[in-house]
Amino acid sequence: ARALFWFRRDLRLDDNHALARALTEVGDVVPVFIFDRNILDPLPRQDRRVEFIHAAVASLKARLQELGSDLIVRHGDAVTWIARLAGEHKVSAVYTNEDYEPDAIARDVLAARALGVRDIPLRTFKDTVIFARAEVMTGQKKPYTVFTPYKKQWRERLGHDAVAAHPSADHLDKLAKLPESPMPSLEKLGFEPAGLAETKIDASEAGAQAALERFVDRAIVRYHEDRDFPALPGTSRLSVHNRFGTVSIRALARAALAAPKGEGAETWLSELAWRDFYFQLLYHYPDVATQPFKTEYTDIAWQNDPELFAAWCEGRTGYPIVDAAMIQLNTSGFMHNRLRMIVASFLTKDLLVDYRWGEAYFAKQLLDFDQAPNNGGWQWAASTGCDAQPYFRIFNPSRQSERFDPDAKFIKHYLPALAKADAKLLHAPWENSSKLAASGVKLGVDYPRPVVDHATQRDACLVMFKKIRET
Ligand code: FAD
Repeated sequence: ARALFWFRRDLRLDDNHALARALTEVGDVVPVFIFDRNILDPLPRQDRRVEFIHAAVASLKARLQELGSDLIVRHGDAVTWIARLAGEHKVSAVYTNEDYEPDAIARDVLAARALGVRDIPLRTFKDTVIFARAEVMTGQKKPYTVFTPYKKQWRERLGHDAVAAHPSADHLDKLAKLPESPMPSLEKLGFEPAGLAETKIDASEAGAQAALERFVDRAIVRYHEDRDFPALPGTSRLSVHNRFGTVSIRALARAALAAPKGEGAETWLSELAWRDFYFQLLYHYPDVATQPFKTEYTDIAWQNDPELFAAWCEGRTGYPIVDAAMIQLNTSGFMHNRLRMIVASFLTKDLLVDYRWGEAYFAKQLLDFDQAPNNGGWQWAASTGCDAQPYFRIFNPSRQSERFDPDAKFIKHYLPALAKADAKLLHAPWENSSKLAASGVKLGVDYPRPVVDHATQRDACLVMFKKIRET
């Protein structure tokens, strides 16, 4: 018997659940990857994520070729290609890992139907998360919508079985022997390089492993203290690897459980729990993809000023911590978590722009863009989400800047025009414009004046939310 293994957001050979099952249950496994036109065609022609996937697929293909097999790579409609390849290779089943996004679920329904016509089952397995769908539920068998009790149960159940590796790497000799075939270049797919090389991210399984080891050796024990300071290398930077599955999420949990016991590893595990939490939330409440979780906030009268939105996108709001963060995003495809919270709060509660505008902008720019955590993060910051920041808690960007970038190291790195200024002046530059001018920074010339006044906007935001609560 033969099986097809369909790689999607699991671009690795080690500890890959569905791959392990295909190799042990069927053997003679034909690996395939489809560049899905339905996803790729609407994207801009320069897209860092497509570049990352292309590099990760190329690396996977090279490893499979070393093993005497290959990765069959196609470009087109994924469902059509999967059904066609399954027929060509006369397989008895197609194996793949579950995907919980609404569009991906719909695609799998179509794939199962197209294969069903040929009597070929689509077998899917949990791989992307530690606990999926309805595995962690309340006593009343309802999905959790509050993180703390979810996390408590999640953590209690995080034993050996939950994080055990699936032994795909032990059975690679069972891969089908295949002649080497070419794969389409990035240009052939219709894309241009988008600066992945400059990010120095190694888009491969080995690159993910190295990043995990670096984090566990150097930073995990101090994670709870360092994680909020964007100028420190305090977090793992593994999110892009989690997005594309160049590392197993179980490997991350195993590494944390094996690390020195303490707040560092526990806090990091909590972040992995947040990730699972948002995945199960999107699964149970797919409407959050387009609507506030708290439906009473559907009619908020966001002001949606396009000029303010453009200033935010381009990092010229006059609030250095916000601007530096946006420049980090625009130039590298990454943004530190503390800064994601600050800029999301600023867009929604200072600029009074609909969180969905920001969510969509992040989706375009972030290398680690993932629908569940991105939507969860935005709805948290905008106070429209479940277990979100209460609407009256509004970050003061200047106080956030003082607390989390006290020496303005991060700000100065991304806003070189401010490099010579005294750090103390950079949390609220408009309050110190003459001192700032003395250090060579003229507001309105070298760096923008603030586009809004925080105190005024804070009041307007409270009014905007209260109107909804009173109706
Ligand atoms: P670490 O601090 O090392 O955390 C380890 C891993 O845990 C991360 O790689 C990530 O997979 C997961 N994780 C960490 N924090 C969170 C969180 N709050 N929610 C869910 N998972 C988390 N994360 C994404 O992966 N994709 C997104 O599109 C995304 N959009 C966000 C948008 C907003 C507005 C906010 C506030 C947060 C968003 N996050 C998103 C969560 C978080 O900011 C990133 O996962 C984190 O900054 C990635 O850096 P790291 O790998 O160094 O994380």
